[in-house]
Amino acid sequence: MEKNAKIYVAGHRGMVGSAICRKLKENGYHNLITRTSSELDLRNQQAVFDFMAEEKPDYIFLAAAKVGGIQANNTYRADFLYENLMIESNIIHAAYLNKVTKLMFLGSSCIYPKMATQPLKEEYLLTGPLEHTNEPYAIAKIAGIKLCEAYRDQYGCNFISVMPTNLYGYNDNYDLNNSHVLPALIRKFHEAKVNSFSEVIVWGTGSPMREFLFADDLAEACLYLMENYNERELVNIGTGEDISIKDLALLVKEVIGFEGGLVFDSTKPDGTPRKLMDVSKLHNTGFKHKVELREGIALAYEDFKKKHVSENV
Ligand code: GDP
Repeated sequence: MEKNAKIYVAGHRGMVGSAICRKLKENGYHNLITRTSSELDLRNQQAVFDFMAEEKPDYIFLAAAKVGGIQANNTYRADFLYENLMIESNIIHAAYLNKVTKLMFLGSSCIYPKMATQPLKEEYLLTGPLEHTNEPYAIAKIAGIKLCEAYRDQYGCNFISVMPTNLYGYNDNYDLNNSHVLPALIRKFHEAKVNSFSEVIVWGTGSPMREFLFADDLAEACLYLMENYNERELVNIGTGEDISIKDLALLVKEVIGFEGGLVFDSTKPDGTPRKLMDVSKLHNTGFKHKVELREGIALAYEDFKKKHVSENV
């Protein structure tokens, strides 16, 4: 990838897209194209086709998606399926029409079957039923992978797919109903600490296992793969290490310095029991994550305080 290549980062305001933009700039890529959602509605086919025909990017990071935690996925099932199908179909087809040199599609570890053997290898895709709470999102992401494969097979497009594990980091969403577990816990423990609450409510039983990757590490892996990986097969991106939700809550509590207890609300869903990525393919490229969980939580907490505490979130 030439340093002056024209690179479109779809979703540049989100946690992942903003981390990819930072990483690109750090590495000397300066010709970035971005559009906010009010400037360009990615669900609108004609708008996307017009934009792509006008800009004709050389490379695309497809990091735009409707995302959220377990409750958002389970509540807005139609929106998660429809919007994500539209966004990825529009961008991938427009990339083909405009002869984009290379496109990277970002998926998710929830594409793997709920009861798949752990750790999750790339070849387990479509070998069993999905977890119900995020099935619409997973189906949309599987369609994105299949679009990349099909445009490669039929038209020779160099479209690749990567599957990040659960992510956290700068510019995360801290909405208590719609966010993922880590930002939710950061906010809950922070609020409990400043208000001297006696306990924090953690959803589910605490027993599910999750793997967490700092978004800047994901961005580094994405850049490396954009520069070096040209195969049809997907690549998992994670740490290869996981933790129970209970231990995660205890870790966040410790980093934030909350003195009270934890209460588990088992009326809330647990979701998939475990989704640990097999990252041997990624590690074979020489990539390994840099930010460990405790350090990453502290960095995310600083970012949360800077951006949200003054707004009394
Ligand atoms: P998932 O990985 O798709 O299940 O998405 P989440 O990050 O939303 O949730 C991961 C796990 O954390 C699930 O078992 C949740 O029940 C649990 N969890 C515990 N407390 C919370 C919370 O406050 N918010 C969210 N989103 N999940 C929580």
